Amino acid sequence: MKRSDRLQQLRTVAARMQPDAAGRASEFAQVRDHAERFLEQLTERNVVGAHTDRAQALAAMALSAQPSNIADALTIIERFVDNSGYHLGSSRFFGYIPSGGLYESALGDYLADVSNRYAGVGLAAPGAARMEQTLLRWLADVVGYPKTAEGDLTSGGSMATLSALVTAREASKLDTRRIPQSVVYVTAQTHHTLHKALQIAGLAECVVRILEVDERQRLEPQSLAKMIDRDKAQGLKPWLVVATAGTTDVGAVDPLDAIADIAQEQGLWLHVDAAYGGAFVLCNEGKKRLKGINRADSLILDPHKGFFLPCGTGVVLVRDGRRLFEAYRARGVYMQDVAHDDERSACDYSPELTRPFRAMRFWLPLKVHGTEPFAAALEEKLLLAQYFYEQIGSIASLRVGPTPDLSIVNFRFTPTGIDADVAGQALIEAITADGRVFISSTRVNGQFVIRFAILNFMSHLEEVDLALTVLREQVETVSAELRASSAKD
Ligand SMILES: *Cc1c(COP(=O)(O)O)cnc(C)c1O
Repeated sequence: MKRSDRLQQLRTVAARMQPDAAGRASEFAQVRDHAERFLEQLTERNVVGAHTDRAQALAAMALSAQPSNIADALTIIERFVDNSGYHLGSSRFFGYIPSGGLYESALGDYLADVSNRYAGVGLAAPGAARMEQTLLRWLADVVGYPKTAEGDLTSGGSMATLSALVTAREASKLDTRRIPQSVVYVTAQTHHTLHKALQIAGLAECVVRILEVDERQRLEPQSLAKMIDRDKAQGLKPWLVVATAGTTDVGAVDPLDAIADIAQEQGLWLHVDAAYGGAFVLCNEGKKRLKGINRADSLILDPHKGFFLPCGTGVVLVRDGRRLFEAYRARGVYMQDVAHDDERSACDYSPELTRPFRAMRFWLPLKVHGTEPFAAALEEKLLLAQYFYEQIGSIASLRVGPTPDLSIVNFRFTPTGIDADVAGQALIEAITADGRVFISSTRVNGQFVIRFAILNFMSHLEEVDLALTVLREQVETVSAELRASSAKD
């Protein structure tokens, strides 16, 4: 075949990927209708989707050389994606750490992807770079960081933690010889992704001390001070202390100011994991509870939690921004055309070069709504957690844990004569099967604990009351079932 004929042939096939204006309008309308249906159903649906068959799903999703169309694809999505698993964005989802799902974030992703800006390099996409800079500056101001602070928008908290640890490692010039003598201080409440990040960052050989906590699972500063002295006496090098502003299990906020005092005096890097709790600095009450957060050398936040974004955005902030820059500064010769650029480039503060235009999904909802409703929704969550805590205390056979530091409430189900672990498990299963609300469990001090976490921007008093109703009903049903089955034994 002549080259010109082959080119014509190839072009015809490749052009299937280029819908014209009418084609785009039709696809967009179908996607929009689908999304609207999904959002409408989200308010009515059970929080846990129906079981879908894996083999069927995989077969339906299989790819081929031949075209399908948006309508068929949406049918597959509706059947095998939309209605399976947890509805994280539901106002009745109170498990793990709830996520948000601001609609303007989805629109932001759409716009970011349509414009496809090269967001990692300032000269290539000054608008995207400045938008990211604006967000990072705003976040730094909100947490009370000085003008020297720098940061990075990541894909989530895990990557933000990794970036913070790499920065701390570089700032402290921890070479491989020094790593086995370097000590990291954490508590049993520290998120597992911190340990994962240590491992990925080549820091697995560090000595890790698990410090004592108080009855509310908050790091005991005296335990930190004592352990540092003991480690120093043994010739070890205290290096990093990790405090958590809102632990995943119980929502505990470590005493940040007292820990910062010790870190400062002893020359340790203080990293604060505020993935869940950090957003609460937006409201005055939250700011009080997170006092001292601005003294962290590095901290992480998860906008896909407390800023109500859909999954996919974390933040690392470093108080002395040069540290972040120094950890990642490297450029290839093929970047010479952008070398003399005075725009800030995200690639200089991140392990990534090519990256999604993440700022858009974060900036658009904040710009459209203003920051006030975010602060209001977060203060509302603190009050609702307190309300839930008080109400739970009045349900017989539920035993509440400590008053919540933020918006996670712990309690145990302890019907008389029944093992509390067995009872807790049965209650969680019954609530999940009921499907109106979702609540998850964990272990604290080895004990089975039920945890209620409220963080979705659409979760209001009605949803909390519904959770209480479901709990009251299921506590009664499960108690009766457990009594009946234990009488049989
Ligand atoms: C969610 C969370 C993380 C991990 O963040 P991802 O966004 O899930 O990667 C780390 N620490 C705490 C306290 C968290 O709540």
